[in-house]
Amino acid sequence: MVEKWIRPVYFVIFIASLYLTACTGPRKLGKPADDGVIELSFLQVNDVYEIAPVSGGREGGMARVATIKKQLLQQNPNTFMIMAGDFLSPSVFNSLQYQGSRIRGKQMVEVMNAAGVDYAVFGNHEFDISESELLSRLNESKFRYISTNAFHRSSSGVGQFSQRADTATRNIPTFEILTLTDKDGTTCRLGIIGLTITSNKAAYVEYSDPFEAAKKVAGEHSGSCDVLIAITHLSQAEDVRLASEIPLISAILGGHEHDMRLVKQGNITITKAHANARSAYIVNLIHNRRTGKTTTKERLVMIDSTISTDPVTDSVVRKWTDIAAASYGTLGFDAKRILHYRGDSLEGRETLTRSGSTNFTGLIAASMLRACPDASAAIFNAGSVRLDDVLYPPISEYDILRSLPFGGSIREATMTGSLLVQILDSGLANTGTGGFLHLENIERHANEWQINGKLIDTAAHYRIALPEFLLSGLETRLEFLTEKHPHLIAIEPKTTDTFDPRSDIRLAIIRHLDGRQYKRR
Ligand SMILES: [Zn+2]
Repeated sequence: MVEKWIRPVYFVIFIASLYLTACTGPRKLGKPADDGVIELSFLQVNDVYEIAPVSGGREGGMARVATIKKQLLQQNPNTFMIMAGDFLSPSVFNSLQYQGSRIRGKQMVEVMNAAGVDYAVFGNHEFDISESELLSRLNESKFRYISTNAFHRSSSGVGQFSQRADTATRNIPTFEILTLTDKDGTTCRLGIIGLTITSNKAAYVEYSDPFEAAKKVAGEHSGSCDVLIAITHLSQAEDVRLASEIPLISAILGGHEHDMRLVKQGNITITKAHANARSAYIVNLIHNRRTGKTTTKERLVMIDSTISTDPVTDSVVRKWTDIAAASYGTLGFDAKRILHYRGDSLEGRETLTRSGSTNFTGLIAASMLRACPDASAAIFNAGSVRLDDVLYPPISEYDILRSLPFGGSIREATMTGSLLVQILDSGLANTGTGGFLHLENIERHANEWQINGKLIDTAAHYRIALPEFLLSGLETRLEFLTEKHPHLIAIEPKTTDTFDPRSDIRLAIIRHLDGRQYKRR
């Protein structure tokens, strides 16, 4: 209890504090004065191929990312969710049909719409799907695309891609500018550019040089924006070059590498999250209008089961996973069937599978050779494995399907030893990329290739099991390898019999994992 004699003192302090508050400025209740500082918040994911959680449900999941978006939005209305490329493909959904047409990224667009993605850039994999499929996906997207250097090549020439927004069609811009205001009235003009790596040479896409395009657009708009960000799907080296050539940029929200990256180039922050939304980056830009300076704070958030799922997004995820499970049935797969309840996890992270063998790549190569008992050895390109993750038991047929979403048959080709050596040398030169080759029954000793423990004889003939893709001439440094190569002596006919494990590499792996149940007609 307060003594009576103290009370007048409290009263004086109270009056004095009212007076002091009134003197700090002409502030009205509920409307703080413009402090000249505005904070923008970006929630960034990139290279997301799975709509549902991965790693046995432990990591990832777009419905969890959606929860973070909603939380950030409550704290700061100037929050934007960004997809930095590679989301329409590759996915196991791409081989599936729904309502008479291939799904091809439709599932991801619907999930991104529900999750509240605001902006996306094209990754190289967006151009894996056909022109008409991509145009449909653009029109279904409620989020906006920005493309500074990737354009649509059609019969009427080269121009911007377009997307339907409500009833009108909008050209996808090379530059976006947003005028933003915070609670106390500080304003900021945010400029956004979007850049794509020029590696996917789809006939309907035309690229311009990303650095020249970015410089041109940034130069044209430098006077009309206070803060400039780049959403990119470039290699890390290219992002670093972009940062050094355009110091006007405050932050580069990037993708393409599937492991997380945080690079500081001068004052510019480059961020890339883990693939499949196993993590997300929160990048906050604090712009001071008085000094004109922008500072960056970034935080990597692991997306795991501690984050609740957003029910709206989750219902869309469930709709599509149910559709997928029904579709696998028609392809002869039982997606939910468990192949392994316990035992070792399978290592499929690309940093490891593209530069050496892991237990998972060893299992795939062994499965191929088992499906082709007349072959002496098996080879496959690391790029067929798109898991970029660890498979933890229980391992289901779905896990095998999503690990190798392209599927494709296994072929058996008889070739000269000299061609085989040329293929193996190319695979070695491809170390670190998807063209790196995994081998079964072939080893390298003292800089020479051996098959079944014997030096490869360049004049001899060898029967090799390999994915049909490797005979297409589309693999890097293996462009010479087509069915017409003169050193290909014979190629066994392609099988479409779904009982034959050679009909789909995934079927060969599943049969192999089934062990004793292995059958070949
Ligand atoms: Zn990419």
